[in-house]
Amino acid sequence: MTEKLAIIGAGPAGLTSAIYAARAFLEPLVFVGPAVGGQIATTTEVENFPGFPNGLTGPELSDAMRQQAERFGSRMIDDTIERVDLSRRPFVLTASEGTYEVQSLIIATGASPRKLGVPGEDQFVGRGVSYCATCDGFFFRDKEIMVVGGGDSAFQEGLFLTKFGSRVRIVHRRDEFRADAVLQNRAQANPKIEFVTSSVIDRIEGNGKVNDVLLRNVKTGEVRTTAVDGVFIFIGNAPNTELFQGQLEMDHEGYLKVDSRLHTSVPGVFAAGEAHDNWFKQAITSAGFGCMAAMEAEKFLAQNDA
Ligand code: NAP
Repeated sequence: MTEKLAIIGAGPAGLTSAIYAARAFLEPLVFVGPAVGGQIATTTEVENFPGFPNGLTGPELSDAMRQQAERFGSRMIDDTIERVDLSRRPFVLTASEGTYEVQSLIIATGASPRKLGVPGEDQFVGRGVSYCATCDGFFFRDKEIMVVGGGDSAFQEGLFLTKFGSRVRIVHRRDEFRADAVLQNRAQANPKIEFVTSSVIDRIEGNGKVNDVLLRNVKTGEVRTTAVDGVFIFIGNAPNTELFQGQLEMDHEGYLKVDSRLHTSVPGVFAAGEAHDNWFKQAITSAGFGCMAAMEAEKFLAQNDA
């Protein structure tokens, strides 16, 4: 049986497109994939999503979107797409537990945390190295925590980690931060937060778990060993688009190329959220892109049978 529409990904982009597509009676199949709820589900506090004046947690927002999508008839599939064939319609999607034929596709695969790429990082993932404060902060009660990055994520998650750690040091490669002013002010006022600027981690060391890092001052070249229990890395994201390599046009960083109405290089395939957006990267903009992609998919299907 050929489905009208599949959506790959269930973060704010995927779930918003599911809400709109379901309300247009497209009965979308939504492949939830490995990162359930998308990046927002690993975010501690969401304070800037309109409609929630007191804020809410990332998982709360993600659950609410999922319920809303299901209410209108979206069909959630807890499986991961492993292969796609976009060379002709219907497109063929191969998941670990089945193959699906679809007339149109919205790619909302989002992005994943970037790695530092230093020795010790991979070795100590889950044993002191983490990319998710919500998931792992609890294990660092009264411990020394280091956060890497100078953007909103580093500040937001660094602030959250002060609930647990005895001290949170934010290590940044420059001496200016790109985090927004509200977050910077809050961090500066927090007695548990210290800043280590113009510095990078050269190596993460330990014995079964993280014990210390080698910190290098990029201005002076000085290297020192600093004892630490947890290293939380928030240095941005890379798009999850490997699946489409060779089938859809993308830029040199792997972001999908789309036109102003989110059409990819293959008619009937649309992208929404951080799979194509290398600029805004907000839950609300991803949700907006999800809405746009669903509206375009609906138009496409109306014009191209279904
Ligand atoms: P980001 O804004 O891209 O910041 C990444 C940070 O990591 C930058 O400070 C960057 O340094 C640093 N960095 C990058 N590569 C590095 C490396 N190899 N070694 C050391 N440092 C490195 O990423 P993000 O903070 O994850 O935020 C992503 C997007 O989500 C942004 O658009 C952000 O606004 C949004 N976001 C918003 C909120 C909020 O609104 N409250 C919360 C979280 C995220 P440089 O500054 O030197 O480039």
